[in-house]
Amino acid sequence: MKAALAGPGGELLHQARRATGRERGPEAVVAGILDFAAELRAYGADRFGEPARAAGVAVPGIVDAEQGVAVYAANLGWRDVPLRGLLGERLGGIPVALGHDVRTGGLAEGRIGAGRGADRFLFVPLGTGIAGAIGIDGRVEAGAHGFAGEIGHVVVRPGGIACPCGQRGCLERFASASAVSQAWAEACGDPEADAADCAKAVESGDARALAVWRDAVDALADGLVTALTLLDPRVLIIGGGLAEAGETLFTPLRDAVRRRVTFQKLPEIVPAALGDTAGCLGAGLMAWDLLDTAAPTAGAAPAATATTGTAATAAPTDTASTADPTSTAPTTVTPRR
Ligand SMILES: [Zn+2]
Repeated sequence: MKAALAGPGGELLHQARRATGRERGPEAVVAGILDFAAELRAYGADRFGEPARAAGVAVPGIVDAEQGVAVYAANLGWRDVPLRGLLGERLGGIPVALGHDVRTGGLAEGRIGAGRGADRFLFVPLGTGIAGAIGIDGRVEAGAHGFAGEIGHVVVRPGGIACPCGQRGCLERFASASAVSQAWAEACGDPEADAADCAKAVESGDARALAVWRDAVDALADGLVTALTLLDPRVLIIGGGLAEAGETLFTPLRDAVRRRVTFQKLPEIVPAALGDTAGCLGAGLMAWDLLDTAAPTAGAAPAATATTGTAATAAPTDTASTADPTSTAPTTVTPRR
């Protein structure tokens, strides 16, 4: 998991990461997050002379942001964890925001990353799975039940490969970094080969790799065209491990989307800019949003400045890719364009 201290404009003041420790069980992960946030807050008080004034946390799975509850996370073994309350208690009663990992990352990409200034965007990270964040006027749409944006489970190949979600032919079975890794490992006969290796083979003109890559790009374009037909985004931000392939992905993807649209307006299709810090930065933005909302009643408080106002944020496994040995996403924090 990753954590950071963030200034009001999303500037990264300090960041740290440590193992999520999911092998120690669901309670230990919760305890780990609380400890991490508390340590970070203490560090901030020491370093900047003032502790964090709000906190944000982004978690995978099903999240009830309104109630502050992590409802379900298969890979962490969580059910109904009242994370917002627990964290607020641990951090001395400061306001805490809880968000869904991909929507939180999308919030950051939309406000201060690749979608900066766009009133409508769709953020789609291609990692172990595929998810989506629908950005509308500076916020991210969660849906009526917290399920909005699940583009990875849009069926693009009816009757195709079974998906753990219960459907067949879901987009993420074909175009996630994991799916491409698996397809390339089978095609080239090396069980260790992954999506990054496939991209390299594509670049060197390997015909088998080109076939695997084309299948993935076609499926992805089918899914994205469904999404843009419904949402009409101005910018389509593609991130995650597979986007690390750069133009090897983006050039054929833009072509494939362009070939499919008829009446729809083509959005700009751009790589994510924030890498795996997006979740942390988004959690920081959510925390600052809480303070902005509370501002009218806090009028007597001394004015916050960029250097003294900090928000503690912790984002466990914001892409789930950093802890997944089959993923191709590097754990670097360097943004790639
Ligand atoms: Zn599915």
